[in-house]
Amino acid sequence: MTSRNLIEKYFKFFKNKGHVIIPSASLIPENDPSALFISAGMHPLVPFLLGEAHPAGKRLVNNQLCLRTGDIDEVGDILHHTFFEMLGNWSLGDYWKKESITWSYEFLTKELDLDPNKLWITCFEGDSDAPKDTESSEIWESVGISREKVLFLPKKDNWWGPAGETGPCGPDSEIFFETSLKACGSKCKPGCHCGRFFEIWNNVFMQYNRTKDGKFKLMKNKNVDTGMGVDRTTAVLSGLNDDYLVPDLWGGVISVIEKITGVDYGSNKKAHRIIADHIRAAVFVSAEGVLPSNKERGYVLRRLIRRAVRYGKILGIKETFLETIADSVIAVYKNYYPHLQTESEEIKTIIADEEVKFNSTLDRGLREIDSLDRLDGKTAFFLYESYGFPLELTEEIAKEKGQVVEQQVFEKEFKKHQELSRTASAGMFKGGLVDASEKVTKLHTATHLLQAALRKILGEQVAQKGSNITTERLRFDFSFDRKLSEKELKQVENVINKQITENLSVKAETKDLTEAIRDGALHFFAERYGDKVKVYSIGSFSQEICGGPHVIRTGEIGHVRILKQEKVGAVVMRIYATIQ
Ligand code: ATP
Ligand code: MG
Repeated sequence: MTSRNLIEKYFKFFKNKGHVIIPSASLIPENDPSALFISAGMHPLVPFLLGEAHPAGKRLVNNQLCLRTGDIDEVGDILHHTFFEMLGNWSLGDYWKKESITWSYEFLTKELDLDPNKLWITCFEGDSDAPKDTESSEIWESVGISREKVLFLPKKDNWWGPAGETGPCGPDSEIFFETSLKACGSKCKPGCHCGRFFEIWNNVFMQYNRTKDGKFKLMKNKNVDTGMGVDRTTAVLSGLNDDYLVPDLWGGVISVIEKITGVDYGSNKKAHRIIADHIRAAVFVSAEGVLPSNKERGYVLRRLIRRAVRYGKILGIKETFLETIADSVIAVYKNYYPHLQTESEEIKTIIADEEVKFNSTLDRGLREIDSLDRLDGKTAFFLYESYGFPLELTEEIAKEKGQVVEQQVFEKEFKKHQELSRTASAGMFKGGLVDASEKVTKLHTATHLLQAALRKILGEQVAQKGSNITTERLRFDFSFDRKLSEKELKQVENVINKQITENLSVKAETKDLTEAIRDGALHFFAERYGDKVKVYSIGSFSQEICGGPHVIRTGEIGHVRILKQEKVGAVVMRIYATIQ
Protein backbone atom coordinates (compact mmCIF):
# COMPACT_ATOMS: atom_id res chain seq x y z
CA MET A 1 0.00 0.00 0.00
CA THR A 2 1.25 3.49 -0.75
CA SER A 3 1.25 6.36 1.70
CA ARG A 4 -1.49 8.08 -0.36
CA ASN A 5 -3.70 4.98 -0.21
CA LEU A 6 -3.31 5.02 3.55
CA ILE A 7 -4.30 8.69 3.78
CA GLU A 8 -7.25 8.15 1.49
CA LYS A 9 -8.47 5.17 3.51
CA TYR A 10 -8.06 7.08 6.76
CA PHE A 11 -10.09 10.03 5.49
CA LYS A 12 -12.80 7.78 4.08
CA PHE A 13 -13.06 5.71 7.24
CA PHE A 14 -13.41 8.71 9.55
CA LYS A 15 -15.68 10.56 7.15
CA ASN A 16 -18.00 7.58 7.38
CA LYS A 17 -17.87 8.00 11.15
CA GLY A 18 -19.13 11.57 10.87
CA HIS A 19 -15.79 13.41 10.74
CA VAL A 20 -15.17 16.49 8.60
CA ILE A 21 -11.86 16.64 6.73
CA ILE A 22 -9.98 19.82 7.57
CA PRO A 23 -6.89 20.92 5.63
CA SER A 24 -3.40 20.82 7.09
CA ALA A 25 -2.44 24.07 8.75
CA SER A 26 0.80 25.73 7.70
CA LEU A 27 3.98 24.20 9.12
CA ILE A 28 4.56 27.59 10.72
CA PRO A 29 2.21 28.34 13.64
CA GLU A 30 0.09 31.34 12.80
CA ASN A 31 -0.75 32.63 16.23
CA ASP A 32 1.57 30.85 18.57
CA PRO A 33 4.78 32.72 19.31
CA SER A 34 5.86 29.99 21.74
CA ALA A 35 6.64 27.49 18.98
CA LEU A 36 8.75 27.60 15.84
CA PHE A 37 6.93 24.82 14.01
CA ILE A 38 3.75 22.78 14.21
CA SER A 39 4.74 19.55 15.94
CA ALA A 40 1.50 17.54 15.94
CA GLY A 41 -1.95 17.50 14.40
CA MET A 42 -3.44 18.79 17.61
CA HIS A 43 -1.13 21.78 17.78
CA PRO A 44 -3.15 24.13 15.52
CA LEU A 45 -6.32 22.85 17.20
CA VAL A 46 -5.41 23.86 20.74
CA PRO A 47 -7.94 26.73 20.98
CA PHE A 48 -10.68 24.24 20.04
CA LEU A 49 -9.43 21.61 22.47
CA LEU A 50 -9.65 24.36 25.09
CA GLY A 51 -13.34 24.84 24.35
CA GLU A 52 -13.71 27.24 21.44
CA ALA A 53 -16.22 25.98 18.85
CA HIS A 54 -14.57 24.71 15.66
CA PRO A 55 -16.33 25.90 12.49
CA ALA A 56 -16.24 22.39 11.01
CA GLY A 57 -17.93 20.80 14.01
CA LYS A 58 -17.03 18.32 16.74
CA ARG A 59 -15.52 15.48 14.71
CA LEU A 60 -12.47 16.37 12.69
CA VAL A 61 -9.90 14.48 10.66
CA ASN A 62 -6.79 15.65 8.81
CA ASN A 63 -3.27 15.03 7.62
CA GLN A 64 -1.02 17.62 9.23
CA LEU A 65 2.49 18.63 8.19
CA CYS A 66 4.69 18.44 11.29
CA LEU A 67 8.25 19.26 12.18
CA ARG A 68 9.87 18.08 15.38
CA THR A 69 13.19 19.80 15.98
CA GLY A 70 13.40 17.84 19.23
CA ASP A 71 13.76 14.63 17.19
CA ILE A 72 16.69 15.85 15.09
CA ASP A 73 19.16 13.70 17.02
CA GLU A 74 16.97 10.62 16.66
CA VAL A 75 17.10 10.86 12.89
CA GLY A 76 19.34 8.13 11.56
CA ASP A 77 17.25 5.38 13.16
CA ILE A 78 14.52 3.50 11.30
CA LEU A 79 11.47 5.53 12.32
CA HIS A 80 12.20 9.09 13.42
CA HIS A 81 12.03 12.03 11.06
CA THR A 82 12.16 15.75 11.63
CA PHE A 83 9.46 16.52 9.05
CA PHE A 84 6.57 14.08 8.66
CA GLU A 85 2.87 13.90 7.94
CA MET A 86 0.60 13.01 10.84
CA LEU A 87 -2.92 11.72 10.40
CA GLY A 88 -5.33 12.55 13.18
CA ASN A 89 -8.94 12.30 14.22
CA TRP A 90 -10.53 14.41 16.94
CA SER A 91 -13.56 14.47 19.13
CA LEU A 92 -14.20 17.93 20.55
CA GLY A 93 -16.42 17.14 23.51
CA ASP A 94 -18.17 14.47 21.46
CA TYR A 95 -17.33 10.71 21.37
CA TRP A 96 -15.08 9.16 23.96
CA LYS A 97 -12.82 6.16 24.61
CA LYS A 98 -15.19 3.45 23.48
CA GLU A 99 -15.65 4.86 19.97
CA SER A 100 -12.06 6.02 19.67
CA ILE A 101 -10.52 2.67 20.59
CA THR A 102 -13.08 0.58 18.72
CA TRP A 103 -12.56 2.63 15.57
CA SER A 104 -8.76 2.50 15.87
CA TYR A 105 -8.95 -1.27 16.10
CA GLU A 106 -11.44 -1.52 13.27
CA PHE A 107 -9.38 0.72 11.02
CA LEU A 108 -6.12 -1.14 11.64
CA THR A 109 -7.45 -4.66 11.41
CA LYS A 110 -10.36 -4.36 8.95
CA GLU A 111 -9.48 -1.45 6.68
CA LEU A 112 -5.73 -1.92 6.69
CA ASP A 113 -5.86 -5.63 7.28
CA LEU A 114 -3.07 -5.64 9.84
CA ASP A 115 -2.66 -8.86 11.79
CA PRO A 116 -4.42 -8.24 15.15
CA ASN A 117 -1.96 -10.62 16.82
CA LYS A 118 0.86 -8.20 16.06
CA LEU A 119 -0.74 -5.27 17.86
CA TRP A 120 0.38 -4.21 21.32
CA ILE A 121 -1.11 -1.46 23.45
CA THR A 122 0.14 0.71 26.26
CA CYS A 123 -2.10 2.50 28.78
CA PHE A 124 -1.51 4.80 31.74
CA GLU A 125 -0.59 2.90 34.92
CA GLY A 126 -1.95 5.49 37.39
CA ASP A 127 -0.31 7.60 40.07
CA SER A 128 -1.27 9.99 42.86
CA ASP A 129 -2.74 12.46 40.33
CA ALA A 130 -5.00 10.15 38.38
CA PRO A 131 -6.04 6.49 38.54
CA LYS A 132 -4.91 3.66 36.29
CA ASP A 133 -6.67 3.88 32.91
CA THR A 134 -8.53 0.58 33.13
CA GLU A 135 -11.38 2.16 31.20
CA SER A 136 -9.14 2.09 28.09
CA SER A 137 -7.52 -1.28 28.74
CA GLU A 138 -10.92 -2.92 29.20
CA ILE A 139 -12.12 -1.56 25.88
CA TRP A 140 -8.97 -2.83 24.17
CA GLU A 141 -9.60 -6.27 25.63
CA SER A 142 -13.24 -6.18 24.64
CA VAL A 143 -12.38 -5.51 20.98
CA GLY A 144 -9.99 -8.45 20.89
CA ILE A 145 -6.51 -7.55 22.16
CA SER A 146 -5.35 -10.18 24.58
CA ARG A 147 -4.62 -9.11 28.13
CA GLU A 148 -0.87 -9.77 28.02
CA LYS A 149 -0.55 -7.41 25.09
CA VAL A 150 -1.91 -4.45 27.04
CA LEU A 151 0.87 -2.92 29.11
CA PHE A 152 0.71 -0.14 31.70
CA LEU A 153 3.31 2.59 31.77
CA PRO A 154 3.87 5.72 33.87
CA LYS A 155 3.22 9.38 33.06
CA LYS A 156 6.42 9.91 31.13
CA ASP A 157 5.21 7.42 28.52
CA ASN A 158 1.42 7.53 28.62
CA TRP A 159 0.20 10.96 29.53
CA TRP A 160 -0.32 14.19 27.64
CA GLY A 161 -0.35 17.76 28.88
CA PRO A 162 -1.32 20.19 30.11
CA ALA A 163 0.18 22.55 27.55
CA GLY A 164 1.23 24.97 30.27
CA GLU A 165 0.91 24.85 34.07
CA THR A 166 -2.82 24.38 33.99
CA GLY A 167 -5.45 23.13 31.55
CA PRO A 168 -6.71 19.98 29.85
CA CYS A 169 -4.58 16.85 30.05
CA GLY A 170 -5.04 13.12 30.37
CA PRO A 171 -3.86 9.57 29.78
CA ASP A 172 -3.03 8.27 26.35
CA SER A 173 -2.98 4.87 24.78
CA GLU A 174 -0.28 4.02 22.26
CA ILE A 175 -0.58 1.39 19.56
CA PHE A 176 2.49 -0.61 18.54
CA PHE A 177 3.03 -3.02 15.72
CA GLU A 178 5.38 -5.93 16.37
CA THR A 179 7.75 -6.32 13.43
CA SER A 180 9.59 -9.47 12.43
CA LEU A 181 12.79 -8.33 14.19
CA LYS A 182 14.06 -10.50 17.03
CA ALA A 183 13.78 -9.32 20.62
CA CYS A 184 16.90 -7.43 21.72
CA GLY A 185 16.76 -9.03 25.16
CA SER A 186 14.44 -10.43 27.77
CA LYS A 187 13.11 -6.94 28.59
CA CYS A 188 12.24 -6.08 24.98
CA LYS A 189 8.63 -4.83 24.89
CA PRO A 190 6.68 -1.88 23.47
CA GLY A 191 8.50 1.29 24.40
CA CYS A 192 11.89 -0.42 23.84
CA HIS A 193 13.98 1.53 21.33
CA CYS A 194 15.54 -1.41 19.49
CA GLY A 195 13.08 -1.06 16.61
CA ARG A 196 11.17 -4.27 17.10
CA PHE A 197 8.02 -2.41 18.13
CA PHE A 198 6.86 0.38 15.82
CA GLU A 199 4.72 2.97 17.57
CA ILE A 200 2.20 3.90 14.91
CA TRP A 201 -0.72 5.62 16.61
CA ASN A 202 -1.43 7.45 19.81
CA ASN A 203 -4.90 8.14 21.22
CA VAL A 204 -4.92 10.89 23.83
CA PHE A 205 -7.87 11.19 26.17
CA MET A 206 -8.14 14.69 27.58
CA GLN A 207 -10.34 14.14 30.58
CA TYR A 208 -8.70 16.13 33.38
CA ASN A 209 -8.14 19.78 34.03
CA ARG A 210 -5.01 20.52 36.01
CA THR A 211 -5.89 23.41 38.30
CA LYS A 212 -3.62 26.07 39.80
CA ASP A 213 -3.28 24.14 43.05
CA GLY A 214 -1.96 21.11 41.15
CA LYS A 215 -5.16 19.03 41.35
CA PHE A 216 -6.52 16.96 38.48
CA LYS A 217 -10.25 17.54 38.17
CA LEU A 218 -12.42 15.52 35.82
CA MET A 219 -13.74 17.68 32.99
CA LYS A 220 -17.27 17.74 31.66
CA ASN A 221 -16.20 18.39 28.09
CA LYS A 222 -13.73 15.67 27.23
CA ASN A 223 -11.72 15.55 24.01
CA VAL A 224 -10.05 12.78 22.04
CA ASP A 225 -6.92 13.65 20.08
CA THR A 226 -5.11 11.07 18.00
CA GLY A 227 -1.96 11.03 15.90
CA MET A 228 -0.69 8.47 13.40
CA GLY A 229 2.62 8.81 11.53
CA VAL A 230 2.22 8.32 7.78
CA ASP A 231 5.79 7.07 7.20
CA ARG A 232 5.71 4.51 9.98
CA THR A 233 2.28 3.16 9.22
CA THR A 234 3.03 2.81 5.51
CA ALA A 235 6.24 0.94 6.40
CA VAL A 236 4.33 -1.46 8.63
CA LEU A 237 1.68 -1.99 5.96
CA SER A 238 4.38 -2.84 3.46
CA GLY A 239 5.97 -5.35 5.81
CA LEU A 240 9.08 -3.19 6.15
CA ASN A 241 11.15 -2.70 9.29
CA ASP A 242 12.50 0.63 8.13
CA ASP A 243 10.60 3.77 7.07
CA TYR A 244 13.28 4.64 4.54
CA LEU A 245 12.49 1.52 2.56
CA VAL A 246 8.96 2.72 1.77
CA PRO A 247 9.16 3.10 -2.03
CA ASP A 248 6.67 5.90 -2.63
CA LEU A 249 8.05 8.11 0.16
CA TRP A 250 11.79 7.55 0.25
CA GLY A 251 12.68 5.22 -2.61
CA GLY A 252 13.49 7.93 -5.15
CA VAL A 253 15.41 10.02 -2.65
CA ILE A 254 17.60 7.22 -1.28
CA SER A 255 18.40 5.93 -4.75
CA VAL A 256 19.49 9.41 -5.84
CA ILE A 257 21.83 9.59 -2.83
CA GLU A 258 23.21 6.16 -3.73
CA LYS A 259 23.73 7.24 -7.31
CA ILE A 260 25.49 10.49 -6.46
CA THR A 261 27.73 9.00 -3.78
CA GLY A 262 28.26 5.56 -5.20
CA VAL A 263 27.66 4.27 -1.68
CA ASP A 264 24.88 1.70 -1.13
CA TYR A 265 22.18 2.47 1.38
CA GLY A 266 23.16 -0.67 3.27
CA SER A 267 26.78 0.46 3.73
CA ASN A 268 25.90 3.58 5.69
CA LYS A 269 22.22 3.77 6.45
CA LYS A 270 22.60 6.51 9.02
CA ALA A 271 24.20 8.96 6.56
CA HIS A 272 21.65 8.20 3.84
CA ARG A 273 18.78 8.66 6.29
CA ILE A 274 20.08 11.92 7.70
CA ILE A 275 20.59 13.43 4.25
CA ALA A 276 17.20 12.24 2.98
CA ASP A 277 15.33 13.33 6.11
CA HIS A 278 17.00 16.70 6.52
CA ILE A 279 16.55 17.69 2.90
CA ARG A 280 12.91 16.62 2.93
CA ALA A 281 12.43 18.86 5.97
CA ALA A 282 14.47 21.67 4.40
CA VAL A 283 12.29 21.54 1.29
CA PHE A 284 9.07 21.91 3.29
CA VAL A 285 10.50 24.59 5.57
CA SER A 286 11.95 26.72 2.79
CA ALA A 287 8.67 26.37 0.89
CA GLU A 288 7.15 28.41 3.74
CA GLY A 289 9.45 31.30 2.93
CA VAL A 290 11.97 30.62 5.71
CA LEU A 291 15.57 31.50 4.88
CA PRO A 292 18.66 30.03 6.56
CA SER A 293 19.89 32.36 9.31
CA ASN A 294 21.23 32.39 12.85
CA LYS A 295 17.84 32.89 14.34
CA GLU A 296 14.83 30.78 15.19
CA ARG A 297 13.31 29.00 12.17
CA GLY A 298 16.15 30.13 9.95
CA TYR A 299 18.59 28.53 12.36
CA VAL A 300 16.72 25.25 12.30
CA LEU A 301 16.80 25.30 8.49
CA ARG A 302 20.53 26.09 8.56
CA ARG A 303 21.20 23.22 10.97
CA LEU A 304 19.29 20.79 8.78
CA ILE A 305 21.11 21.77 5.60
CA ARG A 306 24.57 21.97 7.16
CA ARG A 307 24.18 18.60 8.85
CA ALA A 308 23.18 17.10 5.51
CA VAL A 309 26.26 18.67 3.91
CA ARG A 310 28.49 17.08 6.53
CA TYR A 311 26.93 13.66 6.03
CA GLY A 312 27.46 14.09 2.30
CA LYS A 313 31.15 14.57 3.08
CA ILE A 314 31.09 11.40 5.17
CA LEU A 315 29.78 9.56 2.10
CA GLY A 316 32.65 11.02 0.09
CA ILE A 317 30.84 13.74 -1.85
CA LYS A 318 33.16 16.36 -3.32
CA GLU A 319 30.74 18.45 -5.39
CA THR A 320 27.54 20.17 -4.41
CA PHE A 321 24.64 17.75 -4.42
CA LEU A 322 21.73 19.03 -2.36
CA GLU A 323 19.84 20.60 -5.23
CA THR A 324 19.52 17.16 -6.83
CA ILE A 325 18.32 15.67 -3.55
CA ALA A 326 15.83 18.52 -3.12
CA ASP A 327 14.60 17.82 -6.65
CA SER A 328 13.96 14.19 -5.77
CA VAL A 329 11.99 15.21 -2.67
CA ILE A 330 9.90 17.66 -4.70
CA ALA A 331 9.25 14.92 -7.25
CA VAL A 332 7.78 12.72 -4.48
CA TYR A 333 5.47 15.37 -3.00
CA LYS A 334 4.61 17.84 -5.76
CA ASN A 335 1.35 16.17 -6.70
CA TYR A 336 0.07 16.30 -3.13
CA TYR A 337 1.58 19.68 -2.25
CA PRO A 338 1.47 21.74 -5.45
CA HIS A 339 3.14 24.73 -3.77
CA LEU A 340 6.39 22.71 -3.81
CA GLN A 341 6.20 22.68 -7.58
CA THR A 342 5.43 26.38 -7.94
CA GLU A 343 8.15 27.30 -5.47
CA SER A 344 10.63 24.67 -6.62
CA GLU A 345 13.17 27.11 -8.09
CA GLU A 346 13.20 29.23 -4.92
CA ILE A 347 13.42 26.15 -2.69
CA LYS A 348 16.35 24.73 -4.62
CA THR A 349 18.16 28.05 -4.67
CA ILE A 350 17.77 28.50 -0.92
CA ILE A 351 19.15 25.03 -0.22
CA ALA A 352 21.92 25.19 -2.81
CA ASP A 353 23.09 28.65 -1.65
CA GLU A 354 23.33 27.49 1.92
CA GLU A 355 25.25 24.41 0.81
CA VAL A 356 27.76 26.52 -1.11
CA LYS A 357 28.15 28.85 1.85
CA PHE A 358 28.94 25.99 4.20
CA ASN A 359 31.03 24.03 1.71
CA SER A 360 33.47 26.89 1.47
CA THR A 361 34.31 26.65 5.17
CA LEU A 362 33.44 23.07 6.14
CA ASP A 363 36.72 21.50 5.05
CA ARG A 364 38.78 24.15 6.76
CA GLY A 365 36.69 23.78 9.90
CA LEU A 366 37.08 20.01 9.87
CA ARG A 367 40.84 20.37 9.42
CA GLU A 368 40.90 22.79 12.32
CA ILE A 369 39.05 20.22 14.41
CA ASP A 370 41.59 17.54 13.49
CA SER A 371 44.39 19.76 14.71
CA LEU A 372 42.72 20.37 18.06
CA ASP A 373 43.30 18.12 21.06
CA ARG A 374 39.95 18.81 22.52
CA LEU A 375 36.66 20.36 21.53
CA ASP A 376 35.23 22.56 24.23
CA GLY A 377 32.74 25.41 24.55
CA LYS A 378 35.30 27.99 23.48
CA THR A 379 36.43 26.12 20.37
CA ALA A 380 32.79 25.40 19.53
CA PHE A 381 32.17 29.12 19.48
CA PHE A 382 35.32 29.68 17.43
CA LEU A 383 34.12 27.07 14.90
CA TYR A 384 30.70 28.69 14.85
CA GLU A 385 32.04 32.13 14.23
CA SER A 386 34.86 31.33 11.83
CA TYR A 387 33.48 28.38 9.88
CA GLY A 388 29.74 28.55 10.45
CA PHE A 389 29.54 25.28 12.39
CA PRO A 390 26.20 25.15 14.21
CA LEU A 391 26.85 24.34 17.89
CA GLU A 392 24.92 21.11 17.57
CA LEU A 393 27.15 19.96 14.72
CA THR A 394 30.29 20.53 16.79
CA GLU A 395 28.60 18.74 19.68
CA GLU A 396 27.91 15.81 17.40
CA ILE A 397 31.51 15.67 16.18
CA ALA A 398 32.73 15.96 19.77
CA LYS A 399 30.48 13.08 20.78
CA GLU A 400 31.93 10.92 18.01
CA LYS A 401 35.34 11.60 19.58
CA GLY A 402 34.06 10.78 23.04
CA GLN A 403 34.20 14.43 24.12
CA VAL A 404 31.64 16.86 25.47
CA VAL A 405 31.17 20.51 24.61
CA GLU A 406 30.04 22.59 27.57
CA GLN A 407 27.06 24.47 26.26
CA GLN A 408 27.24 27.13 28.96
CA VAL A 409 30.75 28.10 27.90
CA PHE A 410 29.59 28.35 24.31
CA GLU A 411 26.60 30.46 25.36
CA LYS A 412 28.86 32.71 27.45
CA GLU A 413 31.16 33.31 24.51
CA PHE A 414 28.16 33.86 22.35
CA LYS A 415 26.74 36.50 24.66
CA LYS A 416 30.12 38.14 24.96
CA HIS A 417 29.99 38.66 21.25
CA GLN A 418 26.67 40.35 21.57
CA GLU A 419 24.95 38.04 19.17
CA LEU A 420 21.94 37.09 21.17
CA SER A 421 19.91 36.05 18.24
CA ARG A 422 20.21 32.30 18.34
CA THR A 423 17.07 30.89 19.87
CA ALA A 424 18.22 27.99 21.93
CA SER A 425 15.47 28.20 24.50
CA ALA A 426 14.33 24.66 25.03
CA GLY A 427 10.70 25.64 24.76
CA MET A 428 11.10 27.05 21.30
CA PHE A 429 13.03 24.10 19.97
CA LYS A 430 10.79 21.48 21.42
CA GLY A 431 7.77 23.27 20.04
CA GLY A 432 5.46 24.77 22.61
CA LEU A 433 1.77 25.31 22.38
CA VAL A 434 -0.53 28.18 21.73
CA ASP A 435 0.24 31.07 23.96
CA ALA A 436 -3.10 32.75 24.16
CA SER A 437 -1.70 35.23 26.63
CA GLU A 438 -3.53 38.51 26.89
CA LYS A 439 -0.81 40.52 25.18
CA VAL A 440 -0.67 38.18 22.20
CA THR A 441 -4.44 38.24 21.86
CA LYS A 442 -4.44 42.04 21.86
CA LEU A 443 -1.67 42.19 19.27
CA HIS A 444 -3.55 39.71 17.14
CA THR A 445 -6.67 41.90 17.04
CA ALA A 446 -4.40 44.91 16.44
CA THR A 447 -3.02 43.09 13.38
CA HIS A 448 -6.54 42.92 11.91
CA LEU A 449 -6.98 46.64 12.57
CA LEU A 450 -3.62 47.34 10.94
CA GLN A 451 -4.48 45.48 7.77
CA ALA A 452 -7.85 47.25 7.44
CA ALA A 453 -6.23 50.63 8.18
CA LEU A 454 -3.50 50.05 5.56
CA ARG A 455 -6.13 49.21 2.97
CA LYS A 456 -8.08 52.32 3.85
CA ILE A 457 -5.07 54.64 3.55
CA LEU A 458 -3.07 52.95 0.78
CA GLY A 459 -5.71 51.15 -1.23
CA GLU A 460 -7.00 47.65 -1.80
CA GLN A 461 -3.77 46.35 -3.29
CA VAL A 462 -2.61 45.86 0.29
CA ALA A 463 -2.92 42.16 1.16
CA GLN A 464 -1.39 40.12 3.95
CA LYS A 465 1.80 38.26 3.05
CA GLY A 466 2.74 37.12 6.51
CA SER A 467 2.28 37.80 10.18
CA ASN A 468 4.24 37.05 13.30
CA ILE A 469 3.37 37.94 16.87
CA THR A 470 5.54 37.79 19.97
CA THR A 471 4.62 39.02 23.42
CA GLU A 472 6.52 42.20 22.59
CA ARG A 473 5.27 43.24 19.18
CA LEU A 474 3.43 42.37 16.01
CA ARG A 475 5.05 42.08 12.62
CA PHE A 476 2.95 42.33 9.49
CA ASP A 477 4.07 41.78 5.89
CA PHE A 478 1.89 43.04 3.07
CA SER A 479 1.97 43.60 -0.64
CA PHE A 480 2.99 47.18 -1.44
CA ASP A 481 5.78 48.49 -3.58
CA ARG A 482 7.29 51.33 -1.59
CA LYS A 483 7.97 52.66 1.87
CA LEU A 484 5.18 54.67 3.45
CA SER A 485 5.69 58.38 4.08
CA GLU A 486 5.78 59.65 7.66
CA LYS A 487 2.38 61.15 7.05
CA GLU A 488 0.90 57.85 5.83
CA LEU A 489 2.33 55.98 8.81
CA LYS A 490 0.77 58.50 11.18
CA GLN A 491 -2.56 58.25 9.36
CA VAL A 492 -2.53 54.45 9.66
CA GLU A 493 -1.73 54.68 13.36
CA ASN A 494 -4.51 57.23 13.90
CA VAL A 495 -7.09 55.15 12.07
CA ILE A 496 -6.22 52.11 14.21
CA ASN A 497 -6.39 54.05 17.46
CA LYS A 498 -9.68 55.61 16.44
CA GLN A 499 -11.23 52.12 16.20
CA ILE A 500 -9.81 51.37 19.64
CA THR A 501 -11.26 54.53 21.18
CA GLU A 502 -14.63 53.63 19.72
CA ASN A 503 -14.45 50.36 21.66
CA LEU A 504 -15.91 48.33 18.78
CA SER A 505 -17.11 44.83 19.46
CA VAL A 506 -15.20 41.88 17.97
CA LYS A 507 -17.51 39.12 16.82
CA ALA A 508 -16.90 35.66 15.41
CA GLU A 509 -19.27 33.96 13.01
CA THR A 510 -19.07 30.61 11.23
CA LYS A 511 -19.74 30.71 7.49
CA ASP A 512 -19.22 28.72 4.33
CA LEU A 513 -15.87 29.66 2.79
CA THR A 514 -17.47 30.84 -0.46
CA GLU A 515 -19.99 32.94 1.42
CA ALA A 516 -17.28 34.51 3.60
CA ILE A 517 -15.23 35.47 0.56
CA ARG A 518 -18.31 36.79 -1.23
CA ASP A 519 -19.09 38.95 1.80
CA GLY A 520 -15.64 40.47 1.50
CA ALA A 521 -13.86 38.82 4.42
CA LEU A 522 -10.09 39.17 3.99
CA HIS A 523 -8.22 35.91 3.80
CA PHE A 524 -4.63 34.87 3.66
CA PHE A 525 -4.34 31.21 2.70
CA ALA A 526 -7.47 30.42 0.72
CA GLU A 527 -6.27 26.92 -0.13
CA ARG A 528 -5.70 26.09 3.50
CA TYR A 529 -9.18 26.74 4.77
CA GLY A 530 -11.86 24.13 5.12
CA ASP A 531 -15.37 24.50 3.70
CA LYS A 532 -16.56 26.16 6.89
CA VAL A 533 -14.58 29.05 8.28
CA LYS A 534 -14.67 31.45 11.17
CA VAL A 535 -14.96 35.13 10.27
CA TYR A 536 -13.99 37.79 12.80
CA SER A 537 -15.58 41.22 12.37
CA ILE A 538 -14.49 44.32 14.21
CA GLY A 539 -17.51 46.62 14.12
CA SER A 540 -18.01 47.33 10.43
CA PHE A 541 -14.33 48.27 10.09
CA SER A 542 -12.73 44.89 9.46
CA GLN A 543 -13.74 41.39 8.43
CA GLU A 544 -11.21 38.55 8.24
CA ILE A 545 -11.18 34.77 8.07
CA CYS A 546 -9.19 33.70 11.08
CA GLY A 547 -8.95 31.14 13.86
CA GLY A 548 -8.69 33.63 16.72
CA PRO A 549 -8.23 34.26 19.59
CA HIS A 550 -9.24 37.92 19.79
CA VAL A 551 -10.24 40.51 22.37
CA ILE A 552 -13.97 41.03 22.90
CA ARG A 553 -13.91 44.82 22.45
CA THR A 554 -11.22 46.92 20.82
CA GLY A 555 -10.96 49.14 23.90
CA GLU A 556 -9.05 46.32 25.62
CA ILE A 557 -6.13 46.72 23.22
CA GLY A 558 -4.69 50.00 24.54
CA HIS A 559 -2.74 52.35 22.30
CA VAL A 560 -1.09 50.98 19.16
CA ARG A 561 2.21 52.47 18.08
CA ILE A 562 4.02 51.68 14.81
CA LEU A 563 7.68 51.05 15.58
CA LYS A 564 9.25 50.83 12.14
CA GLN A 565 8.83 49.75 8.54
CA GLU A 566 11.10 47.79 6.22
CA LYS A 567 11.05 46.95 2.55
CA VAL A 568 11.49 43.17 2.52
CA GLY A 569 10.83 42.42 -1.14
CA ALA A 570 10.24 44.14 -4.46
CA VAL A 571 6.56 44.44 -3.64
CA VAL A 572 6.48 43.46 0.02
CA MET A 573 6.62 45.85 2.97
CA ARG A 574 6.89 44.99 6.65
CA ILE A 575 5.60 46.92 9.62
CA TYR A 576 6.41 46.38 13.29
CA ALA A 577 4.02 47.73 15.89
CA THR A 578 3.47 47.42 19.60
CA ILE A 579 0.86 48.34 22.18
CA GLN A 580 1.33 50.73 25.04
P1 ATP B 1 8.18 8.13 19.64
O1 ATP B 1 8.12 7.72 21.09
O2 ATP B 1 8.36 7.01 18.70
O3 ATP B 1 9.14 9.26 19.41
P2 ATP B 1 5.98 9.85 20.19
O4 ATP B 1 5.43 9.25 21.42
O5 ATP B 1 6.86 11.03 20.32
O6 ATP B 1 6.73 8.73 19.31
P3 ATP B 1 3.47 11.06 19.48
O7 ATP B 1 3.89 12.38 20.01
O8 ATP B 1 2.48 10.29 20.23
O9 ATP B 1 4.77 10.18 19.20
O10 ATP B 1 2.99 11.27 17.96
C1 ATP B 1 1.93 10.54 17.36
C2 ATP B 1 2.41 9.67 16.22
O11 ATP B 1 3.22 10.40 15.29
C3 ATP B 1 3.30 8.52 16.65
O12 ATP B 1 2.53 7.43 17.06
C4 ATP B 1 4.09 8.22 15.39
O13 ATP B 1 3.35 7.40 14.52
C5 ATP B 1 4.24 9.58 14.76
N1 ATP B 1 5.55 10.19 15.07
C6 ATP B 1 5.92 10.83 16.20
N2 ATP B 1 7.17 11.30 16.13
C7 ATP B 1 7.62 10.95 14.90
C8 ATP B 1 8.83 11.17 14.20
N3 ATP B 1 9.84 11.85 14.75
N4 ATP B 1 8.94 10.70 12.95
C9 ATP B 1 7.92 10.02 12.37
N5 ATP B 1 6.75 9.77 12.97
C10 ATP B 1 6.58 10.24 14.22
MG1 MG C 1 8.88 11.22 20.14
